[in-house]
Amino acid sequence: MQAKQLDRFRTKLEARRKELQKAVSRGNLESRTVDPLESDPADRATHSYQKEHLFRESQNARQMLRLTEQALTRVQEATFGDCVLCAEEINPKRLEAVPWTRHCLNCQEELERSKPSPVDDRLSAQS
Ligand SMILES: [Zn+2]
Repeated sequence: MQAKQLDRFRTKLEARRKELQKAVSRGNLESRTVDPLESDPADRATHSYQKEHLFRESQNARQMLRLTEQALTRVQEATFGDCVLCAEEINPKRLEAVPWTRHCLNCQEELERSKPSPVDDRLSAQS
């Protein structure tokens, strides 16, 4: 990948990391509005659900943060954009959608077939 592209992804990932760091510390401190993507209004009333949701959400944020930091390391090492499993270049569109991903689509599908990954690439389903 060209340095210019790497730079762009680094900026993107750094912004993402900042957001996640906030989300993680917020999750540690207080309860907050549940994720509209995951929330079921009927369930919101129960305190235990909220607590569990919050816990899960901060776990997710933590995991995302880890993935984002790993991606930034790969930017530094200039291996960013290569699948960590098969070393093929990851589709640029996929990188745009999920810049923290470690796997090309083939490997990701392979992984999901064997073990569902709750966070890695979850957001790619939106588009
Ligand atoms: Zn691959």
